[in-house]
Amino acid sequence: MDKWLILDRDGVINYDSDQFIKSPEEWRPLPGSLEAIAALNTAGYRIVVISNQSGLARGLFDLDTLEAIHQKLHSQLAKHGGQIEQIYFCPHGPDDHCTCRKPLPGLFSRFAEDFEVSLEHVYAVGDSVRDLQAALCAGACSALVRTGKGEKSEQSLLVLPENNPLRSIPIYNDLASFADHILSRGTA
Ligand SMILES: [Mg+2]
Ligand SMILES: [Zn+2]
Repeated sequence: MDKWLILDRDGVINYDSDQFIKSPEEWRPLPGSLEAIAALNTAGYRIVVISNQSGLARGLFDLDTLEAIHQKLHSQLAKHGGQIEQIYFCPHGPDDHCTCRKPLPGLFSRFAEDFEVSLEHVYAVGDSVRDLQAALCAGACSALVRTGKGEKSEQSLLVLPENNPLRSIPIYNDLASFADHILSRGTA
């Protein structure tokens, strides 16, 4: 059976920006993230990305530019021997009432259908609380990284009631430390 991982993009694979990632030039990988993906691939993990890209709805960049950004991701990752199977993105804004913008789980369901994957044991790694909420809602497992918005997210999890399921998710410094952990233990 294939092992799968779902990654958020901004703040997990690459540096995030409050001004959005609007061009290939602005897309810069976080230290160790591409190596981590390649190491996970080598250990048999297949990886998809699920990402909110409301910059499209906001008119900050167009689909061709997003495609160029993702070409840069794919080609830089390939230099490390890594591969991402598919990048799912929500092009909508917060007021569009779509079902694919995290914290809603629409893209998780689409991935599960496309690749006939049961999400039960699949980890989704994110830096925002809404990544974790979407994973929870979709029936996947989740892990938080402290890169990107992760430190802020960690603080906001700490004030949740103790019985909130988001309180018990594992937290890692970055994708590289998540990968080290999962590759040495077999689970997060
Ligand atoms: Mg993010
Ligand atoms: Zn959407």
